[in-house]
Amino acid sequence: MIPIESADKFCSACKLNRTIPNLGNAKNNEKWQHLEVAKHSLIYQLQKLGLPLPSKLKNKKEGLCFDFVSRITNKKLMTGHANGVITILISEANSVERERRRKDLSEPYRTLIGHLRHEVGHYFWERIIYTDQKVLDENRSIFGDERISYADSLTEYYKKPDTKEWQANFISRYATAHSWEDWAETWAHYLHIMDMVETAFFFKLKVVLDKEIKTKVSVDPYTVKSFDKIVQTSVPLSFAVNSISRAMGHLEVYPFVLTPAIIDKLKFIHKLLWKLRTSNEINPILNN
Ligand SMILES: [Zn+2]
Repeated sequence: MIPIESADKFCSACKLNRTIPNLGNAKNNEKWQHLEVAKHSLIYQLQKLGLPLPSKLKNKKEGLCFDFVSRITNKKLMTGHANGVITILISEANSVERERRRKDLSEPYRTLIGHLRHEVGHYFWERIIYTDQKVLDENRSIFGDERISYADSLTEYYKKPDTKEWQANFISRYATAHSWEDWAETWAHYLHIMDMVETAFFFKLKVVLDKEIKTKVSVDPYTVKSFDKIVQTSVPLSFAVNSISRAMGHLEVYPFVLTPAIIDKLKFIHKLLWKLRTSNEINPILNN
């Protein structure tokens, strides 16, 4: 545990650490390094989105913090989010272990940044969706009713076979488990897409294959109001980077298909975040 009085001495990403790995174990140093690189990248992006990041070490009610933990100390610990606390098992920072879990769970993609983006999505659901009845109603019409029992839905999810029928409406199979998971999975993808397009913007990338698959990344996506424009950029980009990745014998960088139903969900997130950072209305979450 990091003492509360030390929190002010750290940068905006480090001040969110509540528990760091036991560095007495040499192997944990490398794992922590990987975790911090991913976490700093996450925090940079959340700051670009204009989202407030109060530390839970200071603001117990609305704050956010990270527990990087090992199951050695407690077998029941799991990667997840609860009331502003994001718990990440440090074993996820071991690429061999992470790949084993990815295969066991038949996932096309499993990364540290992916975990962090998903879990922080649960935190922001509580901050920007649940706090505004109008937004919550719209969220329910898009992502379903979160009041349906989470525990029962998860039990049901792990029992049912994968018929692939979900692919038209959900970004991943896990997103079908419950409204909260659909939100967190879609939120994570929103962050993936924005980061991919922003990185391409820094390199001024241009893709020209044919009339359909072409783009020139000339604007920072965080300054673009239309999410359609961002999708029109990200699709040819992911096609190109996936092809390069396959050429090197690796898995696809972005192994997902954006259907119209999924794009509508992403648009809801983009519109909401755009409004939050550009509106003059005093929003309680931006007032921290
Ligand atoms: Zn989740």
